Amino acid sequence: MDKAFVEQRLASWTDPNTGLDPVSAHQVRGIGIDGDKVALDIAFGYPMFRQRDALTDSIRQHLEADPAITSAVVTLSARIAAHEVQGELKPHPKIRNIIAVASAKGGVGKSTTAVNLALGLQAQGARVGLLDADIYGPSVPLMLGLTGKPDSKDGHSIEPMLGHGLQCQSIGPMVEQDTAMIWRGPMVTKALQQLINDTNWQELDYLVIDMPPGTGDIQLTLSQKIPVAGAVIVTTPQEIALRDAVRGLNMFKQMSITVLGVVENMSLHVCSNCGHESHLFGSGGGETLAREHGVELISSIPLDVSIRTAIDAGAPTVIAEPDSPQGERYIEMATRVAANLAKRPKNRRIDLPKIVVQSNQTSP
Ligand code: ADP
Repeated sequence: MDKAFVEQRLASWTDPNTGLDPVSAHQVRGIGIDGDKVALDIAFGYPMFRQRDALTDSIRQHLEADPAITSAVVTLSARIAAHEVQGELKPHPKIRNIIAVASAKGGVGKSTTAVNLALGLQAQGARVGLLDADIYGPSVPLMLGLTGKPDSKDGHSIEPMLGHGLQCQSIGPMVEQDTAMIWRGPMVTKALQQLINDTNWQELDYLVIDMPPGTGDIQLTLSQKIPVAGAVIVTTPQEIALRDAVRGLNMFKQMSITVLGVVENMSLHVCSNCGHESHLFGSGGGETLAREHGVELISSIPLDVSIRTAIDAGAPTVIAEPDSPQGERYIEMATRVAANLAKRPKNRRIDLPKIVVQSNQTSP
């Protein structure tokens, strides 16, 4: 048995999260062969901590199903790369990927989805930050149970606040509620760039941005200036919200920002008494949107009172009930977002650390 044989066998295993095999996705980091025994080191491009054992077993069983392989030892890890961003923008040195969570109108559950997305990525093992850019209703700190203002150790940079392990920063303290309506795109963009650049982020795999709702001047300027690796659009199944969501899709398309998927929120109602599920706002809208516009419907989140009570109490579903059906749905949504991003090209425009060549010569 040789390496090519093992690779060929491995290439017929498909990753359920990406639909790709580890060989063509260039995820094989090492293959060891000793007679009829093999050892494999594979690094996925997205976090999958909660599924690691199941995925490892699945690959091992697939390999051992070949009569030529008597035993396989599989080591699975995650290596999250920085992926391409729009235009000529460069990624932030401490942030591998920025993911923008957007909705064409307010009240569809964008912030709730953004918070649970960030926590879901973290539950899968990633280092995650959350930036609240919703000037009209900066609610993210409260949703994470955070109060007070962020600290500054040196008077220049701001320390992110820590909420359930997430590094969190909010535009809230910069905006007075009654002046939010007069903020223009360039003002929001400047404030946000300042927050991104002046925050003392500790190495992040993902920074999730909760965008202001809408597709106007603010969102457009943001999309031109912030280096975004991908966007997630949140919508409800109602026709009007969907028509709005198409505007969101078109805006990102125009800005050359990849839409990683659409999340249909409040897609069905779960009765808190009997658990009966009903389509309160109609059904299948997200699917139609996804089909007609070539983007993936990555998740349908039901309207469930437990989602609201958890987030109101400052411990969102992924923290309060990670193993409940809704907790698992959110974590699955986060995994799908990360897996879709992992399929995107890597960013080649990363600044390399400057190498200083030191002379061996001693001065005379
Ligand atoms: P947006 O950011 O789009 O304005 P929010 O995330 O603030 O919306 O959500 C609006 C309200 O709806 C909040 O009270 C939130 O708790 C609630 N909510 C959001 N999604 C759900 C859901 N799937 N089930 C139940 N309540 C939800």
